[in-house]
Amino acid sequence: MLIMKQCLKCKRTFNENGWTCSSCGWSPVEVSDFPAFAPEVTAELDHYPKDAYAKLYELETDSFWFRNRNKLILKTLANDFPDASSLLDIGCGTGFVLAGIAAANPGLRLVGSDLHHEALDYAQIKLPGAVLLQMDAGNIPYAEEFDVICSFDVLEHINRDDEALKQIHQALKPGGGLMITVPQHPWLWSRADDDARHLRRYTRQDLCNKLIEKGFRIIRTSSFISFLLPLLIISRLSTFLKSGKKPINSKQRELHLPHSIDVLFETICSWENSLINRNLSFPLGGSLFCVAVRR
Ligand SMILES: [Zn+2]
Repeated sequence: MLIMKQCLKCKRTFNENGWTCSSCGWSPVEVSDFPAFAPEVTAELDHYPKDAYAKLYELETDSFWFRNRNKLILKTLANDFPDASSLLDIGCGTGFVLAGIAAANPGLRLVGSDLHHEALDYAQIKLPGAVLLQMDAGNIPYAEEFDVICSFDVLEHINRDDEALKQIHQALKPGGGLMITVPQHPWLWSRADDDARHLRRYTRQDLCNKLIEKGFRIIRTSSFISFLLPLLIISRLSTFLKSGKKPINSKQRELHLPHSIDVLFETICSWENSLINRNLSFPLGGSLFCVAVRR
């Protein structure tokens, strides 16, 4: 199988086995057994708590928020890109989304990337068949390679999100699909965003403009976490009012709910998903979902 790679040093594209560029000889180092394309970027990020991924790994299966997002992603992948044979998940974290995709699409060739090799250590447990890379979204070592690229709740952490979108465009095959989720509505900014180290919350217009400018055609976009938005606002306001008391990580508090509430919220979100999957576009919601294709 030919895999189109791009040397990050001389920019030549090649399809030989392995990652050594036959033109300039450059190759990525290995960190924790993963090819590492941007170890220097991770070294500069000292703010990520070492136990963050252990917590996330536990939280994901227990939270309606992650399970619901997976359902929306899987349904969209099946509806909009049924013929995809390769998929790259940028910022795959502990592999929760990729594992869901792998289970539903056994034939799909999967690549996952993250800046943090600590996350990839967890992803590897769930994804024995996937290729996992330490990589910066602003410098992707593939050219016209993937049928689908996805990035879920990642762009809001990236300073040059426009550069990441340009790189994603280059790594997609012409006509290839992009699925993105981001936190929505700048007016919803709260302590949870500070805790999660977000750089921004998006407006629909902002994200769509950036995508169009980088050569994408938008095929659908909707808010999600719409029915639960009033509760989200109340939760963020109460955190704001109590902010002097230094509550525990507010995002984790929101996601770690008693089991009965968690199940109820998942049911509410499934109603919402079924409407989004029928092409309804909600104007308001905690998150924004966008599907586009490379022009
Ligand atoms: Zn090279």
